[in-house]
Amino acid sequence: MGKRAVLMICDGHRDDFVVRDYCPRICDVVAEGRRFRNHRAIFPSATRASAASIATGCWPATHGLHGNAMAFDEGEGPVVYDAGKPEFRDHMRRATGRTLKVPTLAERLKDHGGVVVMANVSPGATYFNDPDGHGHVYHREASFGPGGIHLPNDAMRTVSHDAAGDRALTERFCTEILTEHRPALGVLWLSEPDLSMHADMLGSDTHLAGIAAADACVGRVAETVAKLRAEGDDILFVLGSDHGQETVAEAVWTCIGKVPGS
Ligand SMILES: [Zn+2]
Repeated sequence: MGKRAVLMICDGHRDDFVVRDYCPRICDVVAEGRRFRNHRAIFPSATRASAASIATGCWPATHGLHGNAMAFDEGEGPVVYDAGKPEFRDHMRRATGRTLKVPTLAERLKDHGGVVVMANVSPGATYFNDPDGHGHVYHREASFGPGGIHLPNDAMRTVSHDAAGDRALTERFCTEILTEHRPALGVLWLSEPDLSMHADMLGSDTHLAGIAAADACVGRVAETVAKLRAEGDDILFVLGSDHGQETVAEAVWTCIGKVPGS
């Protein structure tokens, strides 16, 4: 059995909330492994640019997705587009002739076991894990196979954008991807606790419930990884977050209004 890796992202989970009272299953994983205390988010610390950085190992200035929104000139002057929308990649290609400027893990591994991404964040953040269709990408908006082939009847269409959807996604990831498909890299990207932090302030019951929901999903993946390791698989399990969040009382509005996705 070859070596393979599992990357799980709990979107927006802050380092200082990784404590046993809030997320015991995550702390169990930490206790068994190594914790990278110097890990820092990119800047701007936005999910879509982070997805491209995680997929390429590069800063936004290098991979070319500079934030949750970008302006492109497709011939009629610069227009700001929301990088979370599924059609964003098409605007990027039309304006620049390409998507990211550097290869993703999906491209590097396409002939070496492949990459499967399952995510419950925005379509744009999901697709920038593999913007050019080298592996499988599953998202509730639309799912794609190698070559960018649309998978129109995929079960992801019934996954909800909330904690229940994260649970359903995790279950499918553990059975269909980790146990059956067995790609060289499987990526599972949850919506929580980021979703709860957009709804309520840090430390609120809503926030802690979002952490607990993500924690349960981490527990399910950790159990699956442990079972597969016991059966002989050599799996590197990487668990992380793409950024933190802050509670703010006021915001500075830009000349173009509220930046999409912020
Ligand atoms: Zn995020």
